[in-house]
Amino acid sequence: MAQRFALILDPADAAEERADFSGTFTVVDAGAPALSVSELSTQRGDGVFESIGVIDAHAQEVVPHLERLANSARICDLPAPNLEQWRQAVAVAAAECPAGEWVIKLILSRGVEHGPTPTAWVTAAPASDFSEVRMAGVSVVTLDRGYPLDVAERAPWLLLGAKTLSYAVNMAALREAHRRGADDAIFLSSDGYVLEAPTASLILRFGDRFVTPAPSGGILQGTTQLSVYEYLEGRGFEAGYEQVPASRIAEADAAWLVSSVRLAAPITAVDGRLLSVDHALTTDLNQYLLSPRD
Ligand code: PLP
Repeated sequence: MAQRFALILDPADAAEERADFSGTFTVVDAGAPALSVSELSTQRGDGVFESIGVIDAHAQEVVPHLERLANSARICDLPAPNLEQWRQAVAVAAAECPAGEWVIKLILSRGVEHGPTPTAWVTAAPASDFSEVRMAGVSVVTLDRGYPLDVAERAPWLLLGAKTLSYAVNMAALREAHRRGADDAIFLSSDGYVLEAPTASLILRFGDRFVTPAPSGGILQGTTQLSVYEYLEGRGFEAGYEQVPASRIAEADAAWLVSSVRLAAPITAVDGRLLSVDHALTTDLNQYLLSPRD
């Protein structure tokens, strides 16, 4: 198998209910030209996506990712994806992934300009090696997101809460963090509350209580955060959603950035102030996140 590959999903079949969608996928070499230059995903970032971690050919948490894809499509007024068609495409892609860590991306674009249907495709590629960062952790800086906490309700056209293809701002925030000598960033609302990282959710530990910002504040609900909460609750910890003022980060006993492919990265410093790292729990979290999860 090629190192990377993609499956294009036929949108004409997307509305159908059927048991076998295998005839609706076209396998293409991910290095070969496949998209039209009129694609609105490339022209305007007009579409939604998901990144799914794959470990030894097992795609992690497929249903939560598909549900979030459907929610992102709804927020963006895109046609509802046929989740069974996507589920089968992910299964085909995962079965082709060799041992080790891979990443499967699902992309649903508004399609070509003036075209009748969305464009949909799935890619598979080797994941970066995050084994070191899962132990050594990341330093972060806080960056102003420029919006108050209640912006998602007041301005739904900002599409906050959807995982859209418009990630240029998120990538710019990472570059700004690097310019400031940090590895990653935590966005703050303009009224001073903690939101999320550009590509990860934030979980803070205060004693035996774990806290993450409430998803109503215009952040993406992370599938990894949900999975980590299930694990923590299984171990008898309390895990909840709160509005967290930025000043509380420094009071945390430990904190992590969690996401589907990097998994749990402990935070070592915030704006130059050291934060203690819970090495034992970090190891447990990553062991759990690396185990097969559905
Ligand atoms: N928040 C943002 C902005 C993200 O881009 C991501 C993942 O890419 C996350 C949170 C974490 O989501 P998940 O755990 O589903 O990967």
